[in-house]
Amino acid sequence: MSNGRVVKVSGPLVVATGLAEANMADVVRVGEQRLIGEVLTMTGDSASIQVYEETSGLGPGAVVETTGAPLSVELGPGLIEMIYDGIQRPLQEIADLTGSNNLPRGVEVPALNREKKWEFTATVTPGTQVTGGDVIGTVRETPSVLHKIMVPVGMKGTIRTIKSGTYTVTETVATLETEKGEEKPLTLMQKWPVRVGRPYQKKFAPVTPLQSGQRIIDTMFPLAKGGTAAVPGPFGSGKTVVQHALAKWSDVDVVVYIGCGERGNEMTDVLREFPELIDPRTGESLMKRTVLIANTSDMPVAAREASVYTGITIAEYFRDMGYDVAVIADSTSRWAEALREMSGRLEEMPGEEGYPAYLASRLSQFYERAGVIQCMGSDERRGSLTAVGAVSPPGGDLSEPVSQGTMRIVKVFWALDSALAYARHFPAVNWLNSYSLYLDSLKPWFDEHLGNHFFHNRTRAMSLLQQESNLNEIVQLVGKDGLAPGDQLTLETAKMIREDFLQQNAFVDVDSFSSYDRQSKLMQIILDYDKLCRAALERGAQPYDLFAIPSRAAIGRAKSVPEDQYARAYELIATQMEKEIAELAEKGGDAQ
Ligand code: ADP
Ligand code: MG
Repeated sequence: MSNGRVVKVSGPLVVATGLAEANMADVVRVGEQRLIGEVLTMTGDSASIQVYEETSGLGPGAVVETTGAPLSVELGPGLIEMIYDGIQRPLQEIADLTGSNNLPRGVEVPALNREKKWEFTATVTPGTQVTGGDVIGTVRETPSVLHKIMVPVGMKGTIRTIKSGTYTVTETVATLETEKGEEKPLTLMQKWPVRVGRPYQKKFAPVTPLQSGQRIIDTMFPLAKGGTAAVPGPFGSGKTVVQHALAKWSDVDVVVYIGCGERGNEMTDVLREFPELIDPRTGESLMKRTVLIANTSDMPVAAREASVYTGITIAEYFRDMGYDVAVIADSTSRWAEALREMSGRLEEMPGEEGYPAYLASRLSQFYERAGVIQCMGSDERRGSLTAVGAVSPPGGDLSEPVSQGTMRIVKVFWALDSALAYARHFPAVNWLNSYSLYLDSLKPWFDEHLGNHFFHNRTRAMSLLQQESNLNEIVQLVGKDGLAPGDQLTLETAKMIREDFLQQNAFVDVDSFSSYDRQSKLMQIILDYDKLCRAALERGAQPYDLFAIPSRAAIGRAKSVPEDQYARAYELIATQMEKEIAELAEKGGDAQ
């Protein structure tokens, strides 16, 4: 390895010469403190280096050493439940080692614990022909995650030795003889460069919903497993709460949560809450399926740029085992700001609002790593990676470059609205300008699993909300009483959809998660109310009488009915409601 010398330091950007042997994207060590950096551009033997740690005190003449390897992550047992910084440094372990909460510079702690022994169960025998991606054994990493040990991509040959037993991540669990007759050791751990998407055999169209337990998402603007979504919204509109809800309740096997440039206390909230929350599907603590990447606002800006790649590479690795994985990034705007800062220091030609011209392509490189795929290897495993990013446009103005760039790529848009948040309508997802482009591809799943009425009801509810918005303009002029009875009912039903269905309190246990069955039944009651009332109005019943029936109020309380009682309770409400409306219809009929 040749050593270079620093000629210039500008914040996280360092320029060094004498690095003819270095390559673009190589990891380098800078100065006495051996700060970690990555080569961004090379001109001759001069390199522009993005340094992931504080560069104060660093000056011209300091030694720069290339490692000859690109920025990579360690992949293997021990990832789950970890909290890493943007370049996969284990934050808790570093704090334990140094006794300090601030990341000391240049400290080297491996991402995967080197001492811990894992129980490895071999699933193939000597003599088996294998290729990259094939599973050779498993490790029960946590009660929720069975870690599959795969032949690294690019390797091929015959297993010569393999033995179940307890191993550290670097001990040899098997040997593979390549076609050239070379013996290669296989370990529980492998590495992968973060900026390169991990390969797969085939991509499929997403056709299964990612069930989040959030009614506005699952019923109105569903996300598909393997799909992409963005949560744009101004400060305080509820982006983080929505993303936490997704991380908690999505029916996926593994969640990678990237806290990217946001407040540190939000990550602390996750760390405090998740271990105590129980995954309704496994009965285990949610932490047992979660990996956290934290590069909060108080941490070096350059590592924030890397954090989304670190996170999505870890997510791809679990996808490659055949799992459903979600990667959730809060916030991609803070990530884009890190990109802008580096671009500015590199003196690149600025694009719109100072962002580099390659902002849009970087955004799509991130979201393109989502998808439903057939994994590498000879069995027919399928995995999925769903990507969700928050966008925090300054002032909530969606015409800015990060929002625009994201909108062109993602297929689901949950637009958060400050007016709704101000009115304490949460989640503050604006139903009029949000969308999901997965409705058509998910319809067969809905029809099969929830019945044809589910999709039909969804369409009807959206149409009522749309009509409400149109009627509101008329109400401004003539007042509610000036409307025809049918229109008054439309307003009443739309109100029920908004308040009794869409509003969902993330901090009330019974309401924080709502199963598809429950969502479907609740919507059915509201739309049945609408239908029965419309018929009763025809027969001369009075709108205000219909709006005042006791079961109307019971619908308002329906989302708070305990989980084990809702099915029965909803049936009772439906029967009661039919009776009450029938009585009013009779009376209305008599009056004529
Ligand atoms: P952002 O990330 O957009 O700045 P947050 O997610 O931190 O906003 O939300 C701000 C506040 O809004 C929360 O602290 C909470 O009081 C309220 N809030 C947001 N979503 C919900 C929800 N689903 N239920 C109840 N309160 C919510
Ligand atoms: Mg937030």
